[in-house]
Amino acid sequence: MVQRGIIIGRFQPPHRGHIEVSKQILREVDELIVGIGSAQESHTSENPFTAGERVLMLTRALAEAEIDLSRVHLIPIPDVNNNAIWVSHVLSLSPPFEIVYSGNPLVRRLFKEAGFKTRKPPMFKRKEYWGTEIRDRMVKGGRWEELVPEAVAGVMREIKAVDRLKDLSKTDYLLR
Ligand code: NAP
Repeated sequence: MVQRGIIIGRFQPPHRGHIEVSKQILREVDELIVGIGSAQESHTSENPFTAGERVLMLTRALAEAEIDLSRVHLIPIPDVNNNAIWVSHVLSLSPPFEIVYSGNPLVRRLFKEAGFKTRKPPMFKRKEYWGTEIRDRMVKGGRWEELVPEAVAGVMREIKAVDRLKDLSKTDYLLR
């Protein structure tokens, strides 16, 4: 039987740490489902990229890392306003899976209560490979490219991500 694991994150944006975690999980299971969480969110400082942009960044970065894409499924997952039904919602959108990988205690708790095996994946160079840090550097003109795979940097350039992040940060200022 094919064994599948799922990892769910917002991937705002995908970084080198996420790709390393994906490689690690693919040593443990036959196939990996990458759930792109908060799929309905975009164009905010916390969630600047659309689900479609995140799909593109992840697909290209996984291919660049020579990960066999026939072993990976990318699934956008919008949030629901009720944690108690979230696991059923994820199950309705995803290929079947047996193991849930998450650094988030709430995610592990919800899946554990639904009878799934849960594991906390290792994090790689956590202080550097961190979505918040990357978004912050993009706004402040810092060196962010080295924290993301070259393929992700390419998509960022294509969609003019730095300009977007800078404009969104001005919007935050106006709303305060
Ligand atoms: P997340 O928002 O991507 O991650 C939250 C924080 O944990 C980020 O700082 C992230 O860093 C970090 N992180 C990611 N993987 C980690 C790991 N293995 N170890 C330590 N830290 C890690 O994702 P999440 O909080 O895990 O949630 C997943 C998604 O599920 C979200 O979109 C959330 O909204 C959704 N969710 C929805 C419901 C609902 O709709 N009711 C319920 C539960 C969860 P990076 O930014 O560097 O990745």
